[in-house]
Amino acid sequence: MNIAFLGLGDMGLQMALHLQRKGFTVTGWNRSPGKGQALADAGGRLAATPREACSGADAVITMLGGPSSIREVAEGTDGFLAACRQGALWIDSSTIGPTAARAMGALAARYNVAFVDAPVTGSVPQATEGELVFLVGGTEADVQRAQPLFAAMGKLTHHFGPVGQGAAAKAISNQLVGTQIVALAEALVLAETLGLDRSRMADFLADGPGGSRTVRGKGALMKAGEYPPSFRLKWMEKDMWLALKEALNSGVQLPVTGGAQAMLAAARADGLGEYDVAAVFAHFSKVAAGRPDAD
Ligand code: NAP
Repeated sequence: MNIAFLGLGDMGLQMALHLQRKGFTVTGWNRSPGKGQALADAGGRLAATPREACSGADAVITMLGGPSSIREVAEGTDGFLAACRQGALWIDSSTIGPTAARAMGALAARYNVAFVDAPVTGSVPQATEGELVFLVGGTEADVQRAQPLFAAMGKLTHHFGPVGQGAAAKAISNQLVGTQIVALAEALVLAETLGLDRSRMADFLADGPGGSRTVRGKGALMKAGEYPPSFRLKWMEKDMWLALKEALNSGVQLPVTGGAQAMLAAARADGLGEYDVAAVFAHFSKVAAGRPDAD
């Protein structure tokens, strides 16, 4: 099966490598050249444009930033849709909202291409180990076609319903993860302000009543004060926006998510967007250090 993989960033490269190692024929493309070298070293092909990557492909996987980058790669100069064979399958694994996913599905249909939204939970370590979880929206037949690819890159597939429902489930999952990370950063700043040892508190919280995989993983980074990007802060800010926009369109209020989004936006404006999202703690620490004397 010939696969085109578009977007060889932190996540995409690891996913493409799994496909290549598990017997698929993978042609990769990335906007900034150089990032796909590991795929070429593993026997994959690299293309100069999305269009070139997709000619002759049975399936196309996109793992890009957000809706505008996907639209550009799909329909812009050298966009891939025009090169897809009739009946090919497009799987988008980027995190976008359900409204955007449904729009992608409609766009694909205009080119006679089937579409499945399949964002993932798990970060770079899970992508590297082939242990991602796919949250999927699409027809039963299209999801069945995509399943061997999901199985090569991940450990579990949840099919939530028609196109858009995988994206909806992912938006909700990250809404919970994002608000937890911001709350954890607040908790650790308050802990230090009250004279508690940050490291000890991070360990306690990880296994305490409010503990979770997120609190454990991001707490370890906040404890160390080092934030190599596994999940970039700018992407979590985007994901909070996705949840807020969908909520607004549906007439639902999300005050906690709104607060978390505002804090992530401030941290990004503070220059932390390309660091791991746990760096929101560094932003809070800075704000707390400069607090006014208002006893
Ligand atoms: P990343 O390392 O920053 O990669 C982003 C990719 O998108 C790169 O290949 C980048 O190309 C490409 N891109 C961005 N804008 C583009 C444009 N206008 N035209 C063409 N290509 C463009 O991010 P990532 O962590 O792999 O995340 C990718 C997606 O997965 C995001 O939607 C993110 O929210 C989601 N996600 C991430 C994680 C995680 O833990 N990292 C987990 C689950 C889901 P360049 O190399 O040229 O910049």
